[in-house]
Amino acid sequence: MARPVSYNVNNKPLEKDISIAGMPEGQQGEGFFATKLSDVVGLARKNSIWPLPFATSCCGIEFMATMGSHYDLARFGSERVGFSPRQCDLLMVMGTIAKKMGPVVKQVYLQMAEPRWVIAVGACASSGGIFDTYSVLQGIDQVVPVDVYVPGCPPRPEAIIDGVMRIQDLIGKESLRRRNGDRYKALLESYGIQ
Ligand code: SF4
Repeated sequence: MARPVSYNVNNKPLEKDISIAGMPEGQQGEGFFATKLSDVVGLARKNSIWPLPFATSCCGIEFMATMGSHYDLARFGSERVGFSPRQCDLLMVMGTIAKKMGPVVKQVYLQMAEPRWVIAVGACASSGGIFDTYSVLQGIDQVVPVDVYVPGCPPRPEAIIDGVMRIQDLIGKESLRRRNGDRYKALLESYGIQ
């Protein structure tokens, strides 16, 4: 006997599930809308983040769930996950980073083009987690600057999505001049990055 197939008989209207990106602040009238260039660039950037998952252990599995159809990071415009640093703008470090891996994380970061952002996902990437040992890096911010830390061991997919949304907030509000500013240059210099 054929196995019964169940269909979703309670289809909801699609328009209720889909939200469009919010408009930036600006002036509008009949036939025109005026806003700041940085807001338009921020709107485009924040809704088209290309993540580079640098997963070394258990937190990486939570990221896989985050990419799956249930949590679906694609809803945030971030479905294009890449492993070529030059095409990505969000480095997501997930898992325990041994001190030997520190220079590798830094090299991947250096290969990414500006503007680039970094999320430390989970306790290990943020602070070494439970591995307070001679061999484990006590947080990736010892080798690269981090924009958002996601707590948890492991963080649930909702927490990872929350981290991505915090990054979206940062990206949307970032000034176009920030990367050329003295403060940003001083931050990179403190990591030995030119
Ligand atoms: S934070 Fe916990 S779950 Fe994540 S990599 Fe470390 S030990 Fe594994």
